[in-house]
Amino acid sequence: MKITVIGTGYVGLVTGACLAEIGHDVICTDISKEKINMLNEGRIPIYEPGLQEIVERNIREKRLNFTTNTAKAIKDSTAVFSAVGTPMGKNHEADLQYVKAVAVTFGKNLTGYKVFINKSTVPVGTGDMVKGIVKKHTKNEFDVVSNPEFLKEGSAVKDFMTPDRIVIGTESKRAEELIEEIYRPIVRAQSPLVKTDIKSAELIKYAANSMLATRISFMNEIARYADLVGADVRQVAYGIGLDDRIGPRFLQAGIGYGGSCFPKDVQALIHSGKAEGYEFNILKAVEEVNQRQYQLVIEKLLQNLQDLKGRKIAVWGLSFKPKTDDVRDAPSTKIIRSLLEEGAEVSVFDPVAMEEFKKHYPELSIKYGKDRYDILKDADALVLVTEWDEFRTIDFEKLSTLMGNQLIIDGRNIYNKEEMIRNNIEYSGIGATH
Ligand code: NAD
Repeated sequence: MKITVIGTGYVGLVTGACLAEIGHDVICTDISKEKINMLNEGRIPIYEPGLQEIVERNIREKRLNFTTNTAKAIKDSTAVFSAVGTPMGKNHEADLQYVKAVAVTFGKNLTGYKVFINKSTVPVGTGDMVKGIVKKHTKNEFDVVSNPEFLKEGSAVKDFMTPDRIVIGTESKRAEELIEEIYRPIVRAQSPLVKTDIKSAELIKYAANSMLATRISFMNEIARYADLVGADVRQVAYGIGLDDRIGPRFLQAGIGYGGSCFPKDVQALIHSGKAEGYEFNILKAVEEVNQRQYQLVIEKLLQNLQDLKGRKIAVWGLSFKPKTDDVRDAPSTKIIRSLLEEGAEVSVFDPVAMEEFKKHYPELSIKYGKDRYDILKDADALVLVTEWDEFRTIDFEKLSTLMGNQLIIDGRNIYNKEEMIRNNIEYSGIGATH
C-alpha cells in the first residue's frame, strides 16, 4: 500500500521506517529541508537505537522515500499519516497549528478517496476539527482516523513493531478496513487492535500519559516522606509492585518526569478539562508535585555544601531519559538553571545528547566534558541526572583522586548505598537517604 507520513520527527520517522519494514511503500515528508536532505543522504537526524539500520535497508529496497513535497506525496497515496508536533501553547493548551496546516494541505491535494490518520497526541475533538478543515478544501470523499502513538523514545522501533496495543478511532468501516490492512503484519494476540470512536481514541492517549505521570508523582511524594522518616522508597516500590493490581513498572522515584510528552500532555488535559468547566484535581497535584521535584537535588546539595556559590558541580546525563538524544523539557535543564542561579560552576557529560543540548539551550553557560570523569576534576559534588547504562558503574579510585569533595546526589536511585558508604562517598538518593 502507498502511504505518506507527514512529519519526520521521533514518531513520524519511526512510523515511516517501520511501515516500510513491514512491506509498505512509504513517503516521509517534512517542512524541514535540513532533515529531508540528511535522510536522503542516509543519515538520521535523531538518536534512536535500531532505527538507522531499518532506514538504510528500506531506502535500499526502495520502499522508503523522503521529500519536502507533501502535496505530491498526498496525491500519490491513499493513507496519509500525520505525525507533526503538538507542543505546549502559551496557556498550556496543545498548540494545534501544525495539525491544522497539515489538514489544509491534505484537503487541497485530495485526488480521490483518502484517509487522514492522526498519530499526533491531540485533544478530544481534534478529529472533528480536522474533518471540518478538510471539507472546506475538497469535494472528494475522505475519512479521518485517530491512531495515537505509544512508542517510547529509546525503544521506539521495538515498541512500534510489538506494541501493547494499536488504537484506532474512526466512525468509518471503509477507513477501519484500510487501517487493519496496514497494520495486519503487526497485529497479534499480544498486540491487539483496539477499535473505538475518534474521541475515545484521542482520550486514551491523554489518559495513558496522565496515568503514567500520576504514578511518577505519587512515588515522588512517597519518596519525600520516606526521606523524612528514614524509609527506603526502593524497598517500598518493590513491596507494593508485587501486588498485581499495582504491578512493578513505573514506580521509580526520581527527579520528576520530563521530556516532550508527559509535561505537555498532562497540562493539555488539564486545559481541555477547564474548557469544559471541569477541574482535573488529581492532575493538577501531579503537575505541582513534578514542578517542585527537581528542586530536591538543589536542597540536597545545599544541605551538604551550605552554599553553592563558586561550587563546582558535575552533572551526568542531559537527555530526559537514557537511549535518546531528546532534551526537550528534560529535568536536567531545570536543575542546571537552578545551579547556575545559585552561582555554581556546572560541568556536564552525556554520552549522546550534548550536541542537542547545546542547540536547544545555547544560553546556559556550562562546560561540556570529554567523558564522564573529565568533569569530575575538583568537583564539589556529582549529580546523576540520567541513568545511562555507562553511569551505573563507578571507578571509585579515579573518582577519589579527581573530586575535591566526594558527594553524590543520585537523582535516579541507581547506586547501591552500602557500596557508596564503603567507598567513603557522601551519598543521597531520592527517598533512599537513610
Ligand atoms: P517532532 O518535533 O520530533 O517531529 C515533528 C516533525 O513534524 C518535525 O520534524 C517538523 O518539522 C514536522 N512538521 C511540522 N509541520 C509540518 C508540516 N506542515 N508538514 C510536514 N512536516 C511538518 O515531534 P515528535 O516527538 O515526533 O512528536 C509528534 C507527535 O507525536 C506529538 O503530538 C507527540 O506528542 C506525539 N508523540 C510523541 C512521542 C515521542 O516519544 N516523541 C510518543 C508518542 C506520541
